[in-house]
Amino acid sequence: MQIHTDIIQSDISELLAWYHLAGRKLPWRSYWPELTSAYHVFLSEFMLQQTGVSTVIPYFKNFIERWPTIHNLATASVDDVTAAWAGLGYYARARNMHKTAKIISQQGGVFPQTISELLVLPGVGPYTAGAIAAFAFDKPAIVIDGNIERIVARYFNLKTRLPALKSELPEYYKKLMPLQKNSDFPQALMDLGNQFCTSSAPICKDCPLNTGCISAKSDNPEKLPNRPIKKLKPTRQGQIFILRRKQGDISEFLVYRRDDKGLLGGLLAFPSQGWDDKLQKFDINWRPVKAGWITLKPAIKHIFTHFRAELQVFLAEYETVDFSSWDALGNAEEDIIKQQKFEWIAENDLHLPKLMQKSLHLARQHL
Ligand code: SF4
Repeated sequence: MQIHTDIIQSDISELLAWYHLAGRKLPWRSYWPELTSAYHVFLSEFMLQQTGVSTVIPYFKNFIERWPTIHNLATASVDDVTAAWAGLGYYARARNMHKTAKIISQQGGVFPQTISELLVLPGVGPYTAGAIAAFAFDKPAIVIDGNIERIVARYFNLKTRLPALKSELPEYYKKLMPLQKNSDFPQALMDLGNQFCTSSAPICKDCPLNTGCISAKSDNPEKLPNRPIKKLKPTRQGQIFILRRKQGDISEFLVYRRDDKGLLGGLLAFPSQGWDDKLQKFDINWRPVKAGWITLKPAIKHIFTHFRAELQVFLAEYETVDFSSWDALGNAEEDIIKQQKFEWIAENDLHLPKLMQKSLHLARQHL
């Protein structure tokens, strides 16, 4: 079934008029003909990948207060940036954001405006590139997030199952694009997806797109997009070991920096095993060092993108360490510290990812 071009254009005019009156006021948003600065689009879009708007707002405000320009962000330490990011998860985004900030800062602080130039920046995929080009530079870019995917699939009644549907969407998205207000258009669709075309209960009777929308005339627009059958997330077991040393009134903890690649890459962490190994090959009797480990209850639960983790946390005091066992860590204590595989960090200086924060929170109840 085809939708006449005049009907599409009329629907999109209605959409843009509705958006102008009723669109969300967000701290990174401007309404056409005003445009949002590329830096603000860049920050907000990195944060919004996998994270909801209400969670992102205070983080965005904090970032622009602390680092008002891309040059400020570029010269911040990666540890400060990841610490300010704590709670948003997916830390690779924070590290890529920081790398991109450095590149843009070295280029005079000016973002490129074309998709091909934007796509070479670390962490910038087609969606983020499209968002920067459209929101900051008013370019007719293709911007398809989950909301827009749903609306386009319903408007044109596209039944192809995801993920195959994704390759069809740009062609249909282009049919909806207006002749101007390229910056408003995708944001209007996002708000429409938030207010009318929701996943489970679309409100077609009040929707500005309801004249042309094919699915609105069916009994069940909520069935689209056609999703693959969900698999349950597997659960991985693991262990975390928290070793505390008292230096006067100060508590220090034994931590190490994780490899840049992989889960919680480049971040500080307590020694652990199991949860980050897909094959779940680990020795439940292994300890990083012989000590008077006590088992903390309850086990920590944490949800990652592709799995759930259930982690047993163990706590020991430095005084209980059997020093002849430091070799279990791979080296003698001094060598370990020298090679910076492990380090003692005072509690107040520990910038830990959420999973490790949860473990420390549990340990504090026993210290
Ligand atoms: S008319 Fe209904 S199905 Fe179509 S876009 Fe609007 S809310 Fe979604």
